[in-house]
Amino acid sequence: MAFVTLPRGDITAEQMEALALLVETHGNGTLRTTQDQNLLLRWVRTEELPAVHRELERIDLGHAEAGRLLDPTSCPGAESCKIAVTGSRELALAVKETLTEQAGNGGKDLIAAASDLRIKISGCPNSCGQHHVAGIGFHGAAKHVGPRAVPAYQMFLGGAVDGDGAHFGRRSVKIPSRRVPEAVTRLLALFRDERQPDESALAFFKRVELERVNSALSDLASFSEQDLHEEDFSDLGTDQPFIVELGEGECAT
Ligand code: SF4
Repeated sequence: MAFVTLPRGDITAEQMEALALLVETHGNGTLRTTQDQNLLLRWVRTEELPAVHRELERIDLGHAEAGRLLDPTSCPGAESCKIAVTGSRELALAVKETLTEQAGNGGKDLIAAASDLRIKISGCPNSCGQHHVAGIGFHGAAKHVGPRAVPAYQMFLGGAVDGDGAHFGRRSVKIPSRRVPEAVTRLLALFRDERQPDESALAFFKRVELERVNSALSDLASFSEQDLHEEDFSDLGTDQPFIVELGEGECAT
């Protein structure tokens, strides 16, 4: 089997047509979608994998990291879901950019050590983005500060799905949207500095005291008027003031 990484689950019609030809040539003619917004080619002969990878690179789908730390996923969020609170797709993009930059600036080993960790984001508590079963999960929220609202994310830690079933993450702090990428960077630093020998990132975030995490992020999680900047009142990907408006949902909720 070969996974095709789709950043944020996006694919063009032209890429899909090329993939259809690819599975006719190298697979069994079928293509599956995965829960983490990637695609799966089945029944690819081992000796044909290099040719498959070359073709994926040609159509700009040769990215690595499917199902790992550098492959954050999100629900559609405010881009198309009318009951979304925040733009979760924008956050997934910002988190991926921050982690990729960190890997390129000497943090490659840390990113690799934490590769078992999944980051999943929902634009509201309904969890179409499956934030509740992520090593680091976020759902969109809003916090009113005086007459204005701040777009924010409620964070959860240590969730996963494994052979024993689903394990919900523990509720941690709420953070203004624009500070979430920095919060993820700090969480990885905490893992680097305080992990036990051979401890995986998921095991670390299952066990670490929430008080320890909350204190490491306390300045980012502050909504006091003196700690907020003008940019905190707009969501990622826009400079328009943040307003909470509810309408019809993307999913069945
Ligand atoms: S209802 Fe579902 S798709 Fe819409 S923002 Fe909430 S979690 Fe995302």
